[in-house]
Amino acid sequence: MREAVFSELAGQERPASAYDIADNLSKARGKRVAPNSVYRILDLFVANNLALRVESANAYLANTHPGCQHDCIFLVCDECGEASHVDDEEVSRAVRALASARDFQAKRPVLEIRGLCRLCA
Ligand SMILES: [Zn+2]
Ligand SMILES: [Zn+2]
Repeated sequence: MREAVFSELAGQERPASAYDIADNLSKARGKRVAPNSVYRILDLFVANNLALRVESANAYLANTHPGCQHDCIFLVCDECGEASHVDDEEVSRAVRALASARDFQAKRPVLEIRGLCRLCA
């Protein structure tokens, strides 16, 4: 099941929700796959850095660089749903510093910008 969820996720160009993945797997397997079990597997992938979660879209992307640990910045298109992934250590350090200056332990900064991608703009 984990393998099936991962290959489904890896085949997606845009962030996919647990529901999308459960739907596709149900069709491919000819029996209903519950979104809840897909959710659990996706969360496991996120915990192991195999997948990235796009919070504002409630959706997931396969992590193409599972070896890197960093705060990903996502540019999420309101129109087509594409999420491009940028990494910027300076921005991420500034966000973490802002939190720690207020005695807040930042565990997982969520950096997402909603808007329009080049094609949709
Ligand atoms: Zn990243
Ligand atoms: Zn777009």
